[in-house]
Order: sequence, then C-alpha cells, then structure tokens
Amino acid sequence: MNVFVLNCGSSSLKFQIVHTDPDLIERDEERVLAKGLIERIGSEAIITLQAENSPPVKQAAPLRDHRAALAYVLKWITSPESQIPAIASLSDIDAVGHRVVHGEERFNQSIRIDNEVVAGIEDCIDLAPLHNPANLKGIYAARELFGSNVPHVAIFDTSFHSTMPETSYLYAIPYQLYRRFKIRKYGFHGTSHRYMAYRYRKIAGKTREETNVITLHLGNGCSACAIKGGWSVDTSMGMTPLEGLMMGTRCGDIDPTVIEYLMHKEGSSLDEVFSVLNKRSGLLGISGLTNDMRDLLVEMEETQDRRAILAIDMFCSRVKKYLGAYLAEMNGADAVCFAGGIGENSPEIRQRILTGLDWFGIRVDDSLNRAAHGGKEMLISPAGSRVAVYVIPTNEELILARDTVRVVLDVPRIW
Ligand code: ADP
Repeated sequence: MNVFVLNCGSSSLKFQIVHTDPDLIERDEERVLAKGLIERIGSEAIITLQAENSPPVKQAAPLRDHRAALAYVLKWITSPESQIPAIASLSDIDAVGHRVVHGEERFNQSIRIDNEVVAGIEDCIDLAPLHNPANLKGIYAARELFGSNVPHVAIFDTSFHSTMPETSYLYAIPYQLYRRFKIRKYGFHGTSHRYMAYRYRKIAGKTREETNVITLHLGNGCSACAIKGGWSVDTSMGMTPLEGLMMGTRCGDIDPTVIEYLMHKEGSSLDEVFSVLNKRSGLLGISGLTNDMRDLLVEMEETQDRRAILAIDMFCSRVKKYLGAYLAEMNGADAVCFAGGIGENSPEIRQRILTGLDWFGIRVDDSLNRAAHGGKEMLISPAGSRVAVYVIPTNEELILARDTVRVVLDVPRIW
C-alpha cells in the first residue's frame, strides 16, 4: 500500500508517502517514496519537496490556505518531473493518514474518518484550540482532493496515553469537574513515545510486556513518558501541551495562581497571560535570548551568558526531576530513551540530565554519547549498566503510516 501521511500545523503542512503493508512492517522494510514540507502557508510559502533517491527541491509560491498547499503537493506528486517511484496518479495512493493532536476521551485509538469522526474532532477543538483546527483543515482538504474512494484515518497524539490509570490522569480538583467537563491529563507526543517504545523492543529483543522504559521527547515541545508493560502509565504534558517539562517557549509546570496574580499586576487579559506562558516563557523566557537550544549552548560556550546557562540548567533539572518521579512510580525502568531535536542531537544536554543518577543505575559512556547525533540510533550507556540509555531518532510519520494500514486492513496492532 502507498499511504499519504499528512501533518498540518497552523501555517505548515508536512507529508510523506510511505510504501508499506503488514509484511513490510514486520520486516521493518517500509520505504519513504516522497516527503515534503510547506511553511508559511497564507503568504509566500516556502516549499521543500523530495522524492526517494533524489535531492530535495526548494520552491516558493503564494499559497492562500491548507487546501491550496495540499493541491500544490498533489500536483507535484503526480507530475512526471517529481520522479516518485510507483506514483503516476492519485489513484496510486491507497489511503491517507492524518495526525490529529487532541482526541479527548472519545478517541482512544486510531480510527477511520467519516462525517461523525470529523464532528468528534471538531468537538475536541475546545481542548486544543491551537492544534485541532489546523489538523481539521488538512482533513477537509484531503477528503475533497483525494475523492471519496480513498480511506482516511485519524491518528491522535493523545491516544497512546489513554492507558494511564486514574491516579495519573486526574487532577486533584473536585471529581465532578472531571465528570462534567472531562478536565484531566491527556498527554501528547503519543506517536513519538510509541515509536521509541517500539524501537526499544526491537533493539533489546523484548516483548511488549517486558517494555519498561522512560521516554523523553525533547524538541521545541518536550514531554516525558513512563511506559510500563508496553503501555503509557504517566506522562508530563496535561490537558494541554502547556504542562510538564520546561520547553522552548512554554513554561511547563507552574502554580496556577501565577495567572491571576499576573493579570492583576500587569493589568493583562487572560489571553495575554496565556500568550506569555505559551509563547514567551521556557528557554526563551529565562534566557531572554532565544528558544533555540543550539543557540543557547553556543552562548554558554562563547560568552558564558548567565541567563543562557540558567535556562539550560533549569531545562535539564526539570527533566531530571521527572525521570526521578517516573523511576519511583514504575519501581525502576530498564531503559531511558531520548528523541526530539534536542534529545537526538545534543550530547551536552543528555550528559547534564543524566549526571548524578548513578544511584539509580543510570550512567552514560562519554564517547558513545558524543557520537550520538544527526539521526543515529545508539546505545549510549556503558556495557553492563543496570539501566540502558538509548538515543532513538523519532519517526512519527512511520507510526502514522502503520496505523493507517492497521485501520484500513483491520489487522491487530502488533507494532
Ligand atoms: P519541534 O518540536 O518543533 O519538532 P525539534 O524536535 O526539531 O522541534 O527540536 C527543535 C529543538 O532542537 C531546538 O531547540 C533546536 O535548537 C534543538 N536542536 C537541534 N539540533 C541541535 C543540536 N545539535 N544541539 C542542541 N540542540 C539542537
């Protein structure tokens, strides 16, 4: 099967065409036939397109909305000059998989999209006003442009965490508020945590039941996940992606009283305060310089900027606290896995997070750690460590493609 995987953000569209089926999945032999990214939708868009075995092509075009962006991509994939193997026309696409950020409690697994599912995803907008509308734009456009014969599947960031017990997902507020409004922790980055757990199983030769790991997705958005017996039992993001670890521009855990206090002190509206917490906090807020970890590390190295160092120290300290909490919650873990732009590429940050955890059996081999960057999947703990530490470059698109196959062919989840 050729699966078109679509991931729409507020002004961006990412896609991949993955050649896959249950046999190829079993053998880990899927192929990415093409991929691309369109940024700045709504103005002069920047477009990067790449077919398998070809160099990337950069283009620019005025693209009004997500529909125009998708139409642009579909025109490219079906044109002879794109040279995508096995794709000559849209009928060569067998299914479309959509990333959807929030599935609330109603979508605890991936599902084939029909009008009722679309209405359900629309109902979740209240809980994810920044994300679900963009995902829906992709769904509306793809259902129209691919036509009604192609099956569409929704894969939710939240669904991997639907196995969390009540003790993890409830907030300690009146229980009726959970009953009436479904106010609870949902968790995000589910496809990335799932991918890390799956790769760990493969590398370490474990069964799902033997998979007891803590996964750390550290990118612009950051989250930790406690995976016990192969299932998510706790995660750091909450009802929305604002809770948990310190992130590029999000504050993570905070006393909610700060919100009211800030409104009072600054005469700000609620929207303005949330804009501060979502867009001007985290690494950016503390350093006053940037939300980009790479740049902060350069500042630390070259100018020893006090607040750049403080931001880095706070970031690492918070990851460490979650690691400690999850180790206690799970009665220990067999592995810690790093993914995301920071987790995959920064030996310095991994070292800072893991230093001082020897008591838990967590150690890092310095030379292996330094060698792990740029997309390499590696074990970075010394031989014989009680807890293995892995860098596992994430592949969310692969999970989206696999779930699409599983739902369309109605096969059980084996990966
Ligand atoms: P997103 O969550 O938007 O997908 P990414 O997973 O791409 O983001 O992560 C972006 C973050 O990764 C940025 O803070 C960036 O500076 C950081 N990053 C990327 N490469 C490196 C590197 N070599 N060293 C340190 N940080 C890096």
